[in-house]
Amino acid sequence: MKLAQVFEDGIRVKEVPNIALDGRKGAIVKVLGCGLCGSDIIKFDHKTVPFGTVLGHEVVAQILEIDSATDFKSGDVIVTTHHIPCGKCDYCKNGNVSMCRHFKETNIYPGGFSELVFLSEEHLQNVAYLKPENLTVEEASFYEPLSCCVRAVRRAQLLTSSEVLVLGLGSIGILMAQALNAAGMKVLGCDLLDERVEILKNFGIDAVKSVPVNFRPNAVFLTAGADKTVEIAIKIVRDGGKIIVFSSTPNSFPFANNEIYYRELTVMGSYSPDLCDMRQSLNLLQSGRVKVKGLSTVYPLEKVEQAIQDTKNAKIIKALIKV
Ligand SMILES: [Zn+2]
Ligand SMILES: [Zn+2]
Repeated sequence: MKLAQVFEDGIRVKEVPNIALDGRKGAIVKVLGCGLCGSDIIKFDHKTVPFGTVLGHEVVAQILEIDSATDFKSGDVIVTTHHIPCGKCDYCKNGNVSMCRHFKETNIYPGGFSELVFLSEEHLQNVAYLKPENLTVEEASFYEPLSCCVRAVRRAQLLTSSEVLVLGLGSIGILMAQALNAAGMKVLGCDLLDERVEILKNFGIDAVKSVPVNFRPNAVFLTAGADKTVEIAIKIVRDGGKIIVFSSTPNSFPFANNEIYYRELTVMGSYSPDLCDMRQSLNLLQSGRVKVKGLSTVYPLEKVEQAIQDTKNAKIIKALIKV
């Protein structure tokens, strides 16, 4: 089987022996498509993963071999994510599922940018679902990233009809704006690039290139990954408002103590999804309440690095790697 591994000099595609169940519970799946996530790009750029790592976790795949107590069978096309919260530890009980140690330890093997992947029985039982028939592989590949957005919306605990600004309309901003819209919020998206503003408008949500002067949203969702947006968010969020941090920025900022104190701001991070968010994400995609048609650009496995460059240069919205 082919897989793409991270090395010091870049991503190399290698041929390795096929993996098999070898008596384990779970499934061997053939990857039909795997989305390239912003977190994959950061791991590659900063080489925060060991050499030899196979990136990719936004997987749509077909089951080749299975030994499982679930109803899945050979030939089924499924979507899956990679991490599973234990549901029992202190982090989980407090709703910080993505801080759960079990969550961090669980993974798909070797990774989504591989011809074949092993999914454990735990994955099949908790985070894998049949791909809805009305969704293409491209569309279904948004299951994991959308579930992360769904959780961020849930964590923010906003009153219905709150005014919300989404700063940054890459693929995540476009998903976040739609997840907020589906939750009944009044959403405005903002991005410097015309075509991204147009995409959101075409999906039926207001979007602008610069934030209107008197706009004071109840919440600002930071989905851009640019230093400047942090400053903008603190300036324009209304008193008592919430800032939801959903991307890393090149620099960390000093804690805005006095703004947060005197203006009663809430700043919260949201990273990865819980199990209920995954179910909700699939519902939103299947029902068409979140639209993703046309957002993906397909690259072969040999072009993962090209996909990374094109994503960073904003040439494309979202890359889907097909093996
Ligand atoms: Zn992802
Ligand atoms: Zn836990």
